[in-house]
Amino acid sequence: MPNQETGEKINFLKNQDCDVLIVGAGISGLISAREILKADPELKVIIIEGKNRVGGRTHTVELKCAGGETEKWDIGGQWVGETQIHIINLIKELDLETYDQHAGGITWMQIGSSKQKKYTIIPPVEDTRYLVDSVDVITKNLFGISAAKMSFLYFLVYVKSGGNLDDLIGSSDTGADAMKIAGGTQQISQKLCDIVGWEKIYLNQALLKLKFLDEDNGETHVEAIVQSTLDETKISKITAKRVILAIPPSECSKIRFQPSLPFDKKQLFEGFPQGHYLKFIATYEIPFWKEKGFSGGMFATGFTDNPGEAHPLNAVYDATSKTGKPALIGFAVNKTWSDVTPKVRKEAILQDLARFFGDEALRPVDYIDKDWRQEIFNGGCPTGIIPVGNMEAYARVREPWKMIHFAGTETATMWIGYMSGAVQSGRFIPQP
Ligand SMILES: Cc1cc2nc3c(=O)[nH]c(=O)nc-3n(C[C@H](O)[C@H](O)[C@H](O)COP(=O)(O)OP(=O)(O)OC[C@H]3O[C@@H](n4cnc5c(N)ncnc54)[C@H](O)[C@@H]3O)c2cc1C
Repeated sequence: MPNQETGEKINFLKNQDCDVLIVGAGISGLISAREILKADPELKVIIIEGKNRVGGRTHTVELKCAGGETEKWDIGGQWVGETQIHIINLIKELDLETYDQHAGGITWMQIGSSKQKKYTIIPPVEDTRYLVDSVDVITKNLFGISAAKMSFLYFLVYVKSGGNLDDLIGSSDTGADAMKIAGGTQQISQKLCDIVGWEKIYLNQALLKLKFLDEDNGETHVEAIVQSTLDETKISKITAKRVILAIPPSECSKIRFQPSLPFDKKQLFEGFPQGHYLKFIATYEIPFWKEKGFSGGMFATGFTDNPGEAHPLNAVYDATSKTGKPALIGFAVNKTWSDVTPKVRKEAILQDLARFFGDEALRPVDYIDKDWRQEIFNGGCPTGIIPVGNMEAYARVREPWKMIHFAGTETATMWIGYMSGAVQSGRFIPQP
């Protein structure tokens, strides 16, 4: 039966045995499934997903746009770059099409003071406040968190995993935000489901607990207790020879393990929260920013020298679709904007756009925003961050424990936190 909201097929979960249970139908979980089935198509693989859709932190939505038409945009992960070899190869394999991010023109910034400045190449550091604000804007855009709240060692590991900071902040042609996928990134997971078989995917099913069976005889199986998110009284038991947790570390920390996870792994997961982005998309009849010579780009702290003055947006980008439909997207990291009503938030975001690009920004054809902190089974985005002092066990993040394996972009070594890292992490899982 298809899910009425997403059109994806819903299978009903019964108590059953399987060879491999995969938890999470995001990119990493589905890649794990594909790799395992490629190695041995006879294995019985079950994939459970807590949400009512596949794709996890990728989520493609349809909006009204110029010319009375509709078009798809990404309210989750969207960009890819040439050096992200794992996702680039997958895109080719799945026959998806990429197109370039529009970048030409003048970009706005409000960093280091109240002054709104225009630039075409990133200006040099002027003073200490400018430097501190710049670092803060970078961590807010990369991780969804202020620089003061994260481990510098983790920042270095993360940047190194993507090559260099220029590639991460998108100031190079090969950078992380150089290209987009026509039709949206959620197609990656949907196409992977076509390959592994939708009959193996169980939506609206949340893993609650993992218990090792046959403890005395060498622990040959794991019993998973799974709860329907549509009817909490419906509990299923899946017995598996192997389990892959393809979910963010913060979500791993919510699962009950019997016996308990090793202490350092438990502590790592408990101290590995997600960052926080609120992402918006506004579509327009005409690309008024381009007509004024602007790229559509803007980077800001959200604060000015005026006491009490605060604006929501930390970054804005042109989001013109492959078919040329004009749009802007952007991010607000400050949690204040999650706690106001959707109407107040929308008005504040459009007003903030108007500060930089003009009053035309106040009249979008369509508008959507998504507070990823409210998203069930993700609890934030775009990626996990490690606060100061919790790096000790990080080196063991991928290490399997008994018959349980750990995937997900946070366990990658290349492009941690990105879709590319999710693909790489799904491939790490040892073959049966
Ligand atoms: C707003 C935003 C912007 C981003 N921008 C970019 C970008 O431009 N480029 C880029 O490369 N990346 C970007 N990212 C990050 C990228 O989307 C992620 O790195 C990637 O999608 C992670 O895939 P994953 O499989 O590791 O995890 P996820 O996509 O999080 O998949 C994990 C799945 O597990 C499910 N789950 C969790 N717990 C349970 C449970 N107990 N039981 C059952 N199911 C469970 C979740 O519902 C989820 O579907 C962005 C993300 C967001 C949200």
